[in-house]
Amino acid sequence: MPLIDIRKLNAFYGDFQALFDLDFSIGSGETVAVIGANGAGKSTFLSAILGSLASKNGTVEFDGVDITREHVFSNARAGITLVPEGRRLFRSLNVEENLQIGGMTGREGAWTLDAVYSLFPVLRDLRRHPVSQISGGQQQMVAIGRALISNPRLMLCDEISLGLAPKVIREIYACFGQIRESGVSIILVEQDVARAKDASDRLYCLLEGRFSLTGRSDGFSMDEISDAYFGM
Ligand code: ATP
Repeated sequence: MPLIDIRKLNAFYGDFQALFDLDFSIGSGETVAVIGANGAGKSTFLSAILGSLASKNGTVEFDGVDITREHVFSNARAGITLVPEGRRLFRSLNVEENLQIGGMTGREGAWTLDAVYSLFPVLRDLRRHPVSQISGGQQQMVAIGRALISNPRLMLCDEISLGLAPKVIREIYACFGQIRESGVSIILVEQDVARAKDASDRLYCLLEGRFSLTGRSDGFSMDEISDAYFGM
């Protein structure tokens, strides 16, 4: 049974339809990339899973339970977490205080503060620093660490490489192996298509709210992906 099973998902902002009849699944421990151009519907798709979208229809099942009408906090307690675009850290708090916020779901598991510091050792040294005074890459590590401390079963990552230097992006993605080994399923929303392809087992390409390509990430050439991405 898939961890997330989505059938015929439609999403709306008022009269505007952003997603059309999407079918999607992800298994336990699987990493799936969702790629697409600006405005294709990637963030809307994540919001629909997270429970923060006002208007949608279709069904979203999480571990066999219908969560289509559930809201963010109940989904967080069930083990769905988001690493949001732009990181959205609490700028007046230090690194450790930001990480601890992830623990508010009350979920127990292997991802403790110590486990996050082992994954990102630089954060241990910076733990008393305000997040406003650390680099963008380090802030992204805090955002990922905060999500992990909630001991998720499913982690949604929205554009984690946005605005970061290639070296920093490589460092962050290098840690994903360890996250995957811990059994967390990951949905990666990425504009960096090559990175998304490399880091995932399967990919879905969104084009104007519809999936234009789905399948194993190693089963497509960059040209095929590019055609699906731009609608050629
Ligand atoms: P980006 O890469 O730019 O973040 P995206 O693929 O995540 O884009 P979405 O942000 O999901 O795309 O947007 C999908 C469509 O829905 C776009 O046409 C966008 O303009 C529209 N949209 C998104 N949020 C809203 C909103 N709050 N109100 C109205 N329309 C919206």
